[in-house]
Amino acid sequence: MKQVEFTATNGVFDINSFITQCDAAAMGEMPVETPAEPACSCCTEGTTTVCQCEAPAAEGSVPVADGTDPIIYSPLEEVLEDLRMGKLILMTDDPHRENEADLVCAGQFATPQNINFMATHARGLICVPMAPEKVDGLGLPMQAQHNTEKHHTAFTVSVDAKEGTTTGISAFERSITTMKLADTKATLDDFVQPGHCFPLRAVEGGVIRRAGHTEGTVDLLRIAGMEPVGVCCEIMKEDGTMARLGELGSFQKKYGLKACSLAQIIEHRQHTEKLIIREECVKLPTDFGEFDCYSYHSKVDGKTHLALVHGPIDPEKPILCRVHSECLTGDVFASRRCDCGSQLHTAMRRVAKEGGIILYLRQEGRGIGLSAKLHAYKLQEQGLDTVDANIELGFAPDLRDYGVGAQILRDLGVRLLRLLTNNPRKIVGLSGHGLDVVEQLPICIPAHEDNKHYLDTKRERMGHLI
Ligand SMILES: [Zn+2]
Repeated sequence: MKQVEFTATNGVFDINSFITQCDAAAMGEMPVETPAEPACSCCTEGTTTVCQCEAPAAEGSVPVADGTDPIIYSPLEEVLEDLRMGKLILMTDDPHRENEADLVCAGQFATPQNINFMATHARGLICVPMAPEKVDGLGLPMQAQHNTEKHHTAFTVSVDAKEGTTTGISAFERSITTMKLADTKATLDDFVQPGHCFPLRAVEGGVIRRAGHTEGTVDLLRIAGMEPVGVCCEIMKEDGTMARLGELGSFQKKYGLKACSLAQIIEHRQHTEKLIIREECVKLPTDFGEFDCYSYHSKVDGKTHLALVHGPIDPEKPILCRVHSECLTGDVFASRRCDCGSQLHTAMRRVAKEGGIILYLRQEGRGIGLSAKLHAYKLQEQGLDTVDANIELGFAPDLRDYGVGAQILRDLGVRLLRLLTNNPRKIVGLSGHGLDVVEQLPICIPAHEDNKHYLDTKRERMGHLI
Protein backbone atom coordinates (compact mmCIF):
# COMPACT_ATOMS: atom_id res chain seq x y z
CA MET A 1 0.00 0.00 0.00
CA LYS A 2 1.33 3.41 -0.96
CA GLN A 3 2.41 5.73 1.85
CA VAL A 4 0.08 8.75 2.04
CA GLU A 5 1.11 11.34 4.58
CA PHE A 6 -0.03 14.78 5.44
CA THR A 7 1.51 17.50 7.53
CA ALA A 8 -0.41 19.84 9.78
CA THR A 9 0.77 22.47 12.23
CA ASN A 10 0.57 19.89 15.00
CA GLY A 11 2.58 17.14 13.35
CA VAL A 12 2.91 14.70 10.47
CA PHE A 13 0.17 12.10 10.09
CA ASP A 14 0.17 8.79 8.29
CA ILE A 15 -3.29 8.14 6.92
CA ASN A 16 -2.74 4.52 5.94
CA SER A 17 -4.70 3.55 9.03
CA PHE A 18 -7.76 5.25 7.54
CA ILE A 19 -7.41 3.12 4.40
CA THR A 20 -7.53 -0.04 6.46
CA GLN A 21 -10.43 1.18 8.57
CA CYS A 22 -12.47 2.30 5.61
CA ASP A 23 -11.89 -0.85 3.63
CA ALA A 24 -13.01 -2.82 6.66
CA ALA A 25 -16.10 -0.63 7.00
CA ALA A 26 -16.94 -1.10 3.32
CA MET A 27 -16.65 -4.86 3.72
CA GLY A 28 -19.06 -4.71 6.65
CA GLU A 29 -16.41 -5.93 9.07
CA MET A 30 -16.44 -2.80 11.17
CA PRO A 31 -19.18 -0.26 11.79
CA VAL A 32 -18.31 3.28 10.84
CA GLU A 33 -18.31 5.16 14.13
CA THR A 34 -20.53 8.09 14.83
CA PRO A 35 -19.08 10.76 17.11
CA ALA A 36 -19.25 9.78 20.77
CA GLU A 37 -21.64 11.67 22.97
CA PRO A 38 -19.69 14.06 25.14
CA ALA A 39 -19.88 13.88 28.91
CA CYS A 40 -22.11 16.54 30.40
CA SER A 41 -20.19 19.73 31.10
CA CYS A 42 -22.12 20.69 34.21
CA CYS A 43 -22.00 17.44 36.16
CA THR A 44 -20.05 14.21 36.11
CA GLU A 45 -23.11 12.06 35.53
CA GLY A 46 -23.69 10.64 32.11
CA THR A 47 -24.14 12.44 28.85
CA THR A 48 -26.08 15.41 27.61
CA THR A 49 -28.96 13.16 26.56
CA VAL A 50 -29.68 11.77 30.01
CA CYS A 51 -28.43 14.58 32.22
CA GLN A 52 -31.14 16.92 33.45
CA CYS A 53 -28.77 19.80 34.21
CA GLU A 54 -29.52 23.02 32.47
CA ALA A 55 -27.37 23.47 29.38
CA PRO A 56 -24.70 26.12 29.97
CA ALA A 57 -25.72 29.42 28.43
CA ALA A 58 -23.78 30.49 25.37
CA GLU A 59 -22.02 33.83 25.68
CA GLY A 60 -23.05 36.56 23.30
CA SER A 61 -25.86 36.86 20.87
CA VAL A 62 -27.77 33.75 20.07
CA PRO A 63 -29.99 33.77 17.02
CA VAL A 64 -33.71 33.70 17.60
CA ALA A 65 -34.94 30.60 15.82
CA ASP A 66 -38.55 29.92 15.03
CA GLY A 67 -39.67 26.35 15.39
CA THR A 68 -40.37 23.98 18.22
CA ASP A 69 -37.07 22.11 18.29
CA PRO A 70 -34.32 24.72 18.52
CA ILE A 71 -30.57 24.12 18.71
CA ILE A 72 -28.90 24.73 22.08
CA TYR A 73 -25.72 26.78 21.91
CA SER A 74 -22.55 26.15 23.89
CA PRO A 75 -19.88 28.59 25.04
CA LEU A 76 -17.36 29.01 22.20
CA GLU A 77 -14.52 27.45 24.23
CA GLU A 78 -16.40 24.12 24.42
CA VAL A 79 -16.99 24.14 20.66
CA LEU A 80 -13.28 24.86 20.05
CA GLU A 81 -12.32 21.96 22.33
CA ASP A 82 -14.49 19.54 20.32
CA LEU A 83 -12.89 20.76 17.07
CA ARG A 84 -9.42 20.23 18.52
CA MET A 85 -10.43 16.67 19.41
CA GLY A 86 -11.49 16.00 15.82
CA LYS A 87 -15.23 16.03 16.53
CA LEU A 88 -18.03 17.43 14.40
CA ILE A 89 -19.84 20.55 15.59
CA LEU A 90 -22.89 22.53 14.39
CA MET A 91 -22.51 26.08 13.13
CA THR A 92 -25.56 28.25 12.46
CA ASP A 93 -25.84 31.49 10.55
CA ASP A 94 -28.30 34.30 11.05
CA PRO A 95 -31.97 33.28 10.80
CA HIS A 96 -32.32 36.23 8.40
CA ARG A 97 -29.57 34.94 6.08
CA GLU A 98 -29.59 31.26 5.03
CA ASN A 99 -31.18 30.18 8.34
CA GLU A 100 -29.14 26.98 8.12
CA ALA A 101 -26.91 24.89 10.33
CA ASP A 102 -23.82 23.22 8.90
CA LEU A 103 -21.90 20.28 10.29
CA VAL A 104 -18.27 21.36 10.59
CA CYS A 105 -14.96 19.70 11.44
CA ALA A 106 -11.28 20.52 11.01
CA GLY A 107 -9.73 19.57 7.66
CA GLN A 108 -6.94 17.73 9.43
CA PHE A 109 -9.62 15.57 11.06
CA ALA A 110 -11.58 14.93 7.87
CA THR A 111 -11.58 11.24 8.67
CA PRO A 112 -13.62 8.83 6.55
CA GLN A 113 -15.91 8.54 9.59
CA ASN A 114 -16.55 12.29 9.72
CA ILE A 115 -17.09 12.51 5.94
CA ASN A 116 -19.35 9.47 5.98
CA PHE A 117 -21.37 10.96 8.85
CA MET A 118 -21.88 14.18 6.85
CA ALA A 119 -22.89 12.29 3.71
CA THR A 120 -25.27 10.03 5.64
CA HIS A 121 -26.85 12.35 8.21
CA ALA A 122 -26.41 15.88 6.84
CA ARG A 123 -26.73 15.06 3.12
CA GLY A 124 -25.87 18.55 1.84
CA LEU A 125 -22.84 19.37 -0.31
CA ILE A 126 -19.61 18.53 1.50
CA CYS A 127 -17.30 21.52 1.02
CA VAL A 128 -13.83 22.49 2.15
CA PRO A 129 -13.68 26.09 3.46
CA MET A 130 -10.11 27.37 3.19
CA ALA A 131 -8.32 30.52 4.33
CA PRO A 132 -7.61 32.81 1.34
CA GLU A 133 -3.83 32.43 1.79
CA LYS A 134 -4.19 28.64 1.64
CA VAL A 135 -6.15 28.81 -1.65
CA ASP A 136 -3.67 31.33 -3.09
CA GLY A 137 -0.68 29.34 -1.79
CA LEU A 138 -1.93 26.27 -3.64
CA GLY A 139 -2.81 28.37 -6.70
CA LEU A 140 -6.34 26.93 -6.92
CA PRO A 141 -8.31 28.86 -9.58
CA MET A 142 -11.85 30.04 -8.82
CA GLN A 143 -14.76 28.15 -10.42
CA ALA A 144 -16.53 31.28 -11.73
CA GLN A 145 -14.87 34.44 -13.04
CA HIS A 146 -17.93 36.49 -12.13
CA ASN A 147 -19.71 35.11 -9.10
CA THR A 148 -23.46 35.58 -9.52
CA GLU A 149 -24.53 33.18 -6.77
CA LYS A 150 -26.93 34.82 -4.30
CA HIS A 151 -24.60 34.66 -1.28
CA HIS A 152 -21.38 34.88 -3.37
CA THR A 153 -20.23 31.45 -2.21
CA ALA A 154 -16.66 31.34 -3.51
CA PHE A 155 -16.08 27.89 -4.99
CA THR A 156 -12.66 27.14 -6.45
CA VAL A 157 -12.34 24.42 -9.08
CA SER A 158 -13.16 21.01 -7.59
CA VAL A 159 -10.26 18.64 -6.88
CA ASP A 160 -9.25 15.08 -6.04
CA ALA A 161 -5.95 14.05 -4.48
CA LYS A 162 -3.66 12.60 -7.15
CA GLU A 163 -2.40 9.84 -4.86
CA GLY A 164 -4.59 7.44 -2.94
CA THR A 165 -7.80 8.03 -4.93
CA THR A 166 -9.56 6.08 -7.70
CA THR A 167 -13.01 7.58 -8.42
CA GLY A 168 -12.59 10.18 -5.65
CA ILE A 169 -16.11 9.97 -4.24
CA SER A 170 -16.01 7.43 -1.41
CA ALA A 171 -15.89 8.84 2.11
CA PHE A 172 -12.41 7.46 2.36
CA GLU A 173 -11.18 9.09 -0.85
CA ARG A 174 -12.81 12.45 -0.06
CA SER A 175 -11.10 12.17 3.32
CA ILE A 176 -7.71 11.75 1.63
CA THR A 177 -8.34 14.74 -0.66
CA THR A 178 -9.54 16.97 2.17
CA MET A 179 -6.64 16.08 4.43
CA LYS A 180 -4.30 16.76 1.53
CA LEU A 181 -5.89 20.23 1.16
CA ALA A 182 -5.12 20.81 4.85
CA ASP A 183 -1.56 19.54 4.39
CA THR A 184 0.89 22.44 4.86
CA LYS A 185 3.31 20.79 2.42
CA ALA A 186 0.76 20.17 -0.37
CA THR A 187 1.21 21.78 -3.81
CA LEU A 188 -1.17 22.07 -6.77
CA ASP A 189 0.65 19.11 -8.26
CA ASP A 190 -0.83 16.86 -5.54
CA PHE A 191 -4.33 17.32 -7.03
CA VAL A 192 -6.25 16.62 -10.21
CA GLN A 193 -9.08 18.88 -11.46
CA PRO A 194 -12.03 18.56 -11.56
CA GLY A 195 -12.77 16.28 -8.65
CA HIS A 196 -15.19 15.43 -5.85
CA CYS A 197 -14.07 17.90 -3.18
CA PHE A 198 -15.25 21.50 -3.31
CA PRO A 199 -12.87 24.01 -1.75
CA LEU A 200 -14.34 27.39 -0.81
CA ARG A 201 -12.23 30.54 -0.51
CA ALA A 202 -13.03 32.51 2.66
CA VAL A 203 -12.93 36.29 2.28
CA GLU A 204 -10.03 38.23 3.75
CA GLY A 205 -11.03 39.37 7.26
CA GLY A 206 -13.33 36.37 7.82
CA VAL A 207 -16.69 36.67 9.60
CA ILE A 208 -16.05 40.35 10.27
CA ARG A 209 -16.44 40.98 6.51
CA ARG A 210 -18.81 38.17 5.55
CA ALA A 211 -20.97 36.26 8.00
CA GLY A 212 -21.06 32.94 6.11
CA HIS A 213 -20.28 29.34 7.05
CA THR A 214 -17.10 29.43 4.95
CA GLU A 215 -15.67 32.31 6.97
CA GLY A 216 -17.07 30.93 10.23
CA THR A 217 -15.31 27.60 9.73
CA VAL A 218 -11.97 29.19 8.85
CA ASP A 219 -12.15 31.71 11.72
CA LEU A 220 -13.12 29.06 14.26
CA LEU A 221 -10.15 26.90 13.24
CA ARG A 222 -7.81 29.90 13.50
CA ILE A 223 -9.15 30.69 16.98
CA ALA A 224 -8.64 27.00 17.89
CA GLY A 225 -5.01 27.33 16.75
CA MET A 226 -5.47 24.83 13.93
CA GLU A 227 -4.80 24.78 10.19
CA PRO A 228 -7.42 27.13 8.61
CA VAL A 229 -8.88 24.45 6.33
CA GLY A 230 -12.14 22.77 7.37
CA VAL A 231 -15.03 20.69 6.15
CA CYS A 232 -18.66 21.78 6.22
CA CYS A 233 -21.94 20.31 5.05
CA GLU A 234 -25.49 21.70 5.15
CA ILE A 235 -28.19 19.64 6.83
CA MET A 236 -31.07 18.47 4.69
CA LYS A 237 -34.21 16.86 6.09
CA GLU A 238 -35.49 13.49 4.97
CA ASP A 239 -38.13 15.15 2.80
CA GLY A 240 -35.34 16.91 0.86
CA THR A 241 -35.91 20.42 2.22
CA MET A 242 -33.28 22.25 4.25
CA ALA A 243 -33.43 21.92 8.03
CA ARG A 244 -33.97 25.26 9.76
CA LEU A 245 -32.43 26.38 13.05
CA GLY A 246 -35.64 25.75 14.96
CA GLU A 247 -35.87 22.13 13.81
CA LEU A 248 -32.48 20.66 14.72
CA GLY A 249 -32.59 20.23 18.49
CA SER A 250 -33.29 16.47 18.37
CA PHE A 251 -30.61 15.93 15.70
CA GLN A 252 -28.12 17.78 17.89
CA LYS A 253 -29.10 15.80 20.97
CA LYS A 254 -29.09 12.44 19.20
CA TYR A 255 -25.48 12.83 18.06
CA GLY A 256 -24.19 14.84 21.02
CA LEU A 257 -23.11 17.83 18.91
CA LYS A 258 -21.94 21.14 20.36
CA ALA A 259 -23.26 24.19 18.50
CA CYS A 260 -22.20 27.78 17.98
CA SER A 261 -23.56 30.65 15.91
CA LEU A 262 -21.66 32.94 13.55
CA ALA A 263 -22.72 35.76 15.88
CA GLN A 264 -20.71 34.14 18.69
CA ILE A 265 -17.60 34.01 16.46
CA ILE A 266 -18.05 37.64 15.41
CA GLU A 267 -18.49 38.67 19.02
CA HIS A 268 -15.39 36.72 20.09
CA ARG A 269 -13.30 38.48 17.45
CA GLN A 270 -14.69 41.89 18.38
CA HIS A 271 -13.66 41.24 21.97
CA THR A 272 -10.19 39.90 21.23
CA GLU A 273 -8.99 41.84 18.17
CA LYS A 274 -8.46 45.50 17.42
CA LEU A 275 -10.75 46.24 14.48
CA ILE A 276 -10.32 50.02 14.27
CA ILE A 277 -7.44 52.30 13.28
CA ARG A 278 -7.21 55.90 14.50
CA GLU A 279 -6.39 58.04 11.47
CA GLU A 280 -6.63 61.80 12.05
CA CYS A 281 -7.51 64.37 14.68
CA VAL A 282 -8.55 67.88 13.64
CA LYS A 283 -10.21 70.92 15.24
CA LEU A 284 -13.87 71.18 14.28
CA PRO A 285 -15.62 74.44 15.15
CA THR A 286 -19.41 74.03 14.76
CA ASP A 287 -22.56 76.09 15.31
CA PHE A 288 -22.95 74.22 18.60
CA GLY A 289 -19.39 74.64 19.92
CA GLU A 290 -15.83 73.50 19.23
CA PHE A 291 -14.79 69.84 19.09
CA ASP A 292 -11.70 67.72 18.44
CA CYS A 293 -12.75 65.49 15.56
CA TYR A 294 -11.10 62.03 15.44
CA SER A 295 -11.51 59.80 12.40
CA TYR A 296 -11.35 56.02 12.72
CA HIS A 297 -11.10 53.45 9.96
CA SER A 298 -13.11 50.32 10.67
CA LYS A 299 -11.76 47.01 9.36
CA VAL A 300 -15.28 45.61 9.81
CA ASP A 301 -17.00 47.60 7.09
CA GLY A 302 -14.18 49.70 5.62
CA LYS A 303 -16.02 52.87 6.70
CA THR A 304 -14.72 56.00 8.43
CA HIS A 305 -16.42 56.74 11.75
CA LEU A 306 -16.06 60.01 13.70
CA ALA A 307 -15.70 60.91 17.35
CA LEU A 308 -16.30 64.57 18.29
CA VAL A 309 -14.68 65.22 21.65
CA HIS A 310 -15.13 68.26 23.85
CA GLY A 311 -12.98 68.55 26.97
CA PRO A 312 -10.71 66.03 28.74
CA ILE A 313 -11.32 62.27 28.95
CA ASP A 314 -10.62 60.65 32.30
CA PRO A 315 -11.13 56.85 32.50
CA GLU A 316 -11.99 57.19 36.19
CA LYS A 317 -14.78 59.71 35.63
CA PRO A 318 -18.06 58.99 33.83
CA ILE A 319 -18.20 60.97 30.59
CA LEU A 320 -21.26 62.25 28.75
CA CYS A 321 -21.60 60.41 25.46
CA ARG A 322 -23.98 60.20 22.54
CA VAL A 323 -23.57 57.22 20.17
CA HIS A 324 -25.33 58.39 17.03
CA SER A 325 -26.01 56.23 13.99
CA GLU A 326 -25.86 58.08 10.71
CA CYS A 327 -29.20 59.18 9.30
CA LEU A 328 -28.52 61.18 6.15
CA THR A 329 -32.08 62.37 5.69
CA GLY A 330 -32.48 63.40 9.33
CA ASP A 331 -28.96 64.67 10.12
CA VAL A 332 -28.31 66.60 6.90
CA PHE A 333 -31.71 67.41 5.43
CA ALA A 334 -33.54 67.84 8.75
CA SER A 335 -36.13 65.29 7.63
CA ARG A 336 -39.24 65.29 9.78
CA ARG A 337 -39.86 61.57 9.22
CA CYS A 338 -37.66 60.90 12.24
CA ASP A 339 -36.07 62.77 15.13
CA CYS A 340 -32.39 61.95 14.37
CA GLY A 341 -31.30 65.47 13.37
CA SER A 342 -32.84 67.08 16.47
CA GLN A 343 -31.35 64.36 18.71
CA LEU A 344 -27.88 64.88 17.22
CA HIS A 345 -27.98 68.65 17.57
CA THR A 346 -29.44 68.56 21.08
CA ALA A 347 -26.66 66.16 22.09
CA MET A 348 -23.94 68.30 20.41
CA ARG A 349 -25.19 71.39 22.24
CA ARG A 350 -25.11 69.56 25.57
CA VAL A 351 -21.69 67.96 25.01
CA ALA A 352 -20.22 71.32 23.96
CA LYS A 353 -21.50 72.79 27.22
CA GLU A 354 -20.70 69.98 29.70
CA GLY A 355 -17.84 68.16 27.95
CA GLY A 356 -18.12 64.70 26.43
CA ILE A 357 -18.19 62.77 23.18
CA ILE A 358 -20.42 62.47 20.12
CA LEU A 359 -19.62 59.15 18.47
CA TYR A 360 -20.94 59.24 14.92
CA LEU A 361 -21.23 55.75 13.41
CA ARG A 362 -21.82 55.40 9.70
CA GLN A 363 -24.54 52.79 9.87
CA GLU A 364 -27.40 54.36 8.01
CA GLY A 365 -30.99 53.29 8.63
CA ARG A 366 -30.30 50.98 11.60
CA GLY A 367 -27.54 49.33 9.59
CA ILE A 368 -29.55 48.46 6.47
CA GLY A 369 -28.11 51.22 4.27
CA LEU A 370 -29.57 54.34 2.67
CA SER A 371 -31.16 52.69 -0.34
CA ALA A 372 -32.90 50.03 1.77
CA LYS A 373 -34.01 52.72 4.23
CA LEU A 374 -35.75 54.60 1.43
CA HIS A 375 -37.42 51.33 0.34
CA ALA A 376 -38.59 50.93 3.93
CA TYR A 377 -39.97 54.51 3.85
CA LYS A 378 -41.94 53.56 0.75
CA LEU A 379 -43.41 50.54 2.56
CA GLN A 380 -44.29 52.83 5.47
CA GLU A 381 -46.13 55.12 3.06
CA GLN A 382 -48.11 52.02 2.14
CA GLY A 383 -49.09 51.48 5.77
CA LEU A 384 -46.39 49.42 7.55
CA ASP A 385 -44.62 50.79 10.64
CA THR A 386 -40.80 51.14 10.74
CA VAL A 387 -40.24 47.74 12.40
CA ASP A 388 -42.55 45.83 10.06
CA ALA A 389 -41.10 47.63 7.03
CA ASN A 390 -37.59 46.36 7.87
CA ILE A 391 -38.86 42.83 8.49
CA GLU A 392 -40.71 42.98 5.16
CA LEU A 393 -37.39 43.80 3.45
CA GLY A 394 -35.75 40.80 5.10
CA PHE A 395 -33.72 42.71 7.68
CA ALA A 396 -33.66 42.27 11.43
CA PRO A 397 -35.36 45.24 13.11
CA ASP A 398 -32.00 46.65 14.23
CA LEU A 399 -28.72 45.58 12.66
CA ARG A 400 -26.62 48.28 14.26
CA ASP A 401 -23.42 47.06 15.72
CA TYR A 402 -21.89 48.76 18.70
CA GLY A 403 -18.75 46.58 18.87
CA VAL A 404 -16.83 49.02 16.68
CA GLY A 405 -18.24 51.99 18.60
CA ALA A 406 -17.11 50.42 21.88
CA GLN A 407 -13.60 49.90 20.49
CA ILE A 408 -13.39 53.56 19.45
CA LEU A 409 -14.51 54.72 22.90
CA ARG A 410 -11.92 52.44 24.54
CA ASP A 411 -9.22 53.79 22.21
CA LEU A 412 -10.10 57.33 23.30
CA GLY A 413 -9.55 56.26 26.91
CA VAL A 414 -13.21 56.07 27.94
CA ARG A 415 -14.36 53.51 30.52
CA LEU A 416 -17.40 54.95 32.27
CA LEU A 417 -20.32 56.37 30.30
CA ARG A 418 -23.27 58.62 30.93
CA LEU A 419 -25.12 57.67 27.79
CA LEU A 420 -27.41 60.14 26.05
CA THR A 421 -29.98 57.79 24.54
CA ASN A 422 -33.61 56.77 24.50
CA ASN A 423 -32.71 53.28 23.26
CA PRO A 424 -32.18 50.54 25.90
CA ARG A 425 -30.50 48.27 23.29
CA LYS A 426 -27.58 50.69 23.06
CA ILE A 427 -26.76 49.96 26.68
CA VAL A 428 -26.77 46.20 26.06
CA GLY A 429 -24.65 46.70 22.91
CA LEU A 430 -22.01 48.80 24.67
CA SER A 431 -21.71 47.06 28.03
CA GLY A 432 -19.35 44.13 28.12
CA HIS A 433 -16.78 45.69 25.83
CA GLY A 434 -14.81 47.06 28.76
CA LEU A 435 -17.29 49.92 29.11
CA ASP A 436 -19.72 50.60 31.91
CA VAL A 437 -22.86 52.58 31.29
CA VAL A 438 -23.35 54.19 34.71
CA GLU A 439 -26.27 56.37 33.70
CA GLN A 440 -28.81 56.64 30.89
CA LEU A 441 -29.92 60.17 30.06
CA PRO A 442 -32.93 60.46 27.75
CA ILE A 443 -33.00 63.08 25.00
CA CYS A 444 -36.37 64.74 24.93
CA ILE A 445 -37.47 66.00 21.54
CA PRO A 446 -41.01 67.27 21.18
CA ALA A 447 -43.01 65.17 18.72
CA HIS A 448 -44.70 66.87 15.79
CA GLU A 449 -47.27 65.62 13.32
CA ASP A 450 -44.82 64.17 10.74
CA ASN A 451 -42.83 62.00 13.17
CA LYS A 452 -45.49 61.20 15.77
CA HIS A 453 -46.23 57.75 14.29
CA TYR A 454 -42.49 56.94 14.02
CA LEU A 455 -41.85 57.93 17.64
CA ASP A 456 -44.89 55.94 18.81
CA THR A 457 -43.48 52.86 17.03
CA LYS A 458 -40.05 53.29 18.64
CA ARG A 459 -41.68 53.53 22.05
CA GLU A 460 -44.18 50.72 21.64
CA ARG A 461 -42.30 48.20 19.48
CA MET A 462 -38.66 48.81 20.40
CA GLY A 463 -38.89 49.83 24.06
CA HIS A 464 -37.48 53.34 23.57
CA LEU A 465 -37.91 55.70 26.49
CA ILE A 466 -39.42 58.69 24.76
ZN1 LIG B 1 -33.41 59.33 11.14
